[in-house]
Amino acid sequence: MKILLVDDSRAIAMVTSARLESFGYQVKHAINGQTAVDLFQTETFDLILMDIEMPGMNGFETTTRIRALEGQETWAWTPIIFVTATDTISNLVTAIEAGGDDFIAKTVPEPVLQAKMKAMSRIAALRNRLSVANAKLQDQANRDGLTGLLNRRAMDFQVDCLWEKAQAQATPFGLLMVDVDNFKKYNDHYGHQAGDDCLRSVAACLERIVRQANEQQTAPGTFVARYGGEEFAVIIPDAAPGVHSGLAASLVQAVAALGIPHEKNADWGVVTISLGASCMSPAAGPIKELFRQADQLLYKAKANGRNRAEAL
Ligand code: GH3
Ligand code: MG
Ligand code: MG
Ligand code: MG
Repeated sequence: MKILLVDDSRAIAMVTSARLESFGYQVKHAINGQTAVDLFQTETFDLILMDIEMPGMNGFETTTRIRALEGQETWAWTPIIFVTATDTISNLVTAIEAGGDDFIAKTVPEPVLQAKMKAMSRIAALRNRLSVANAKLQDQANRDGLTGLLNRRAMDFQVDCLWEKAQAQATPFGLLMVDVDNFKKYNDHYGHQAGDDCLRSVAACLERIVRQANEQQTAPGTFVARYGGEEFAVIIPDAAPGVHSGLAASLVQAVAALGIPHEKNADWGVVTISLGASCMSPAAGPIKELFRQADQLLYKAKANGRNRAEAL
């Protein structure tokens, strides 16, 4: 367990640290409230031991600041125990109101301190398990079960945030709508199971090309999502001129190059995709317009013979 010890007295801090370290805990000392708040923002602690009487920001104010920082994260709650020379009833009430979890006197006997630390380390372990489980759940809720890509819900959320950012920075925003060609025929001919495998392969291929574009810095922050069925979307949150059409062409080529046999895909004999690639300055209209454009271009790519991208 990692403890943040906040105390303006170096002498007291040294004694307390030595006691806690002898119980097997790791201790970091903050000499005042501001240092504690700064440390809290850069490191994770399982427990905070907070002196009340300190010059400048006292323990109550420091705790209020720390709780406000935690408020931004759903699962964050670091237990805070106030340590004070004067354990009056009014101090206890204020301590709990300020967001503290417990209250001990500086003169607390060693076994009591040790027992309290033990209880707190149990809470810390439980909290860590909860936060790991929560992160896992959150990730699962954002992913599509078949392909492992971001799902539609997560994509919509991300797009809203990124669009706002693009608006603020006046950067063009790119969108590629991807649709597997003649996929109904693929299912009919090869079976639904093979259809699922095919979608997984296409998704992995899109992701690979997008990752390369990210690595080469040609389209930083770009990601793929499963839009629905056999349709995917590629979001390019900061699209330099020509990037969206270049990436679109690479994706079309890469999927065809997988060479997944598709007898019923008339001219090609392998699985192919069609793609509508649009790019818009956020000042030019609402995000709906960007999706409408991409959809129209996709329709055009289909009408022009499939296995191609149409860009604007
Ligand atoms: P087009 O080239 O015009 O896009 O023709 P298409 O056959 O691909 O388009 P259509 O919309 O007629 O058919 C899409 C098919 O995709 C129908 C549906 O059964 C299939 N599909 C959607 N989601 C899945 C999936 O998760 N797994 C499988 N195996 N098939 C899916
Ligand atoms: Mg003090
Ligand atoms: Mg479709
Ligand atoms: Mg299709």
